[in-house]
Amino acid sequence: MTITDQQGRAIAYLLHEIRPDWGIASLMSLIDKHRDVPSLGALIIAAITKAMEPSCQTPAPIFRPGPHWPEKARPLLARAAPCEDHIGQDGYTCRSCHADVKAGIRPADRIGKHHEPESEEP
Ligand SMILES: [Zn+2]
Repeated sequence: MTITDQQGRAIAYLLHEIRPDWGIASLMSLIDKHRDVPSLGALIIAAITKAMEPSCQTPAPIFRPGPHWPEKARPLLARAAPCEDHIGQDGYTCRSCHADVKAGIRPADRIGKHHEPESEEP
């Protein structure tokens, strides 16, 4: 699902109440960059869990896959993880990886994952 402006704002204000050191403007721009989430509830659980970790200095780790997300949400997050080989691309939809597969230099199961052609089995 995609987070709406109103939902994003609500989460930013809620997190700011828990963590006054996390600014509302930076929370909103962070949420804006990660609008596709497994569900609103899953995002709120993950966000509050991270906000309550004193060792978590910035809100950025909220959107990384990890145990702070409800278990059902985790497989969906892995899909949205960034491509290991191409900076700025999502692993599941990486254009460069898909182009490599078409060109026959990357197996289809290595989309979004690190792949070295030399290490391929003959
Ligand atoms: Zn890629």
